[in-house]
Amino acid sequence: MNEWLVFCMERTFIILKPDAMQRGLAGKILSRFERRGLKIVAAKMIHLTKEKCDEHYAHLKGKPFFAGLVTFMTSTPVICAVLEGKDAVELVRKMCGATNARAAEVGTIRGDFGLSTQANLIHASDSKETAEKEIARFFSKNEMHQWERDLEASYTYSADEKG
Ligand code: UDP
Ligand code: MG
Repeated sequence: MNEWLVFCMERTFIILKPDAMQRGLAGKILSRFERRGLKIVAAKMIHLTKEKCDEHYAHLKGKPFFAGLVTFMTSTPVICAVLEGKDAVELVRKMCGATNARAAEVGTIRGDFGLSTQANLIHASDSKETAEKEIARFFSKNEMHQWERDLEASYTYSADEKG
């Protein structure tokens, strides 16, 4: 594990996908995480290459939808970010909702904004191990920021939940 990935709070990786960008929903989606109390510790806009996309979705190679997924993900620039907070990986997955947006619970990002299995607005790491790999894949050490949100001092977590 890279030493720069060891922090007190858990971190997870997200991509605001081309449909979120095209539909002008990137800010709205990011603001849901901010509002919940998660902290943005890295963010940038990139245009995914086919190679990067192949690497990111390597576990899906061979699936019938793979070629279409790569075409979709490389169709416009996307916004990548790292979110930090207690249990961030599980929390962010819950906030995204099921892969098929039509089946996603209302109140989740996919359930509120989407209707598609492919164009489902957001990628989020599915485990702590995946998050570490994905953060390292997309961000270098000098693109990661350690900073305090003032609210964290008293209101986001209780004293025994910080750590
Ligand atoms: N995907 C697709 N068709 C499918 C399943 C997945 O186009 O039948 C796309 C979709 O954009 C999804 C991504 O592939 O978000 C990665 O699939 P995964 O099963 O990892 O879903 P996720 O973790 O994003 O919920
Ligand atoms: Mg996945």
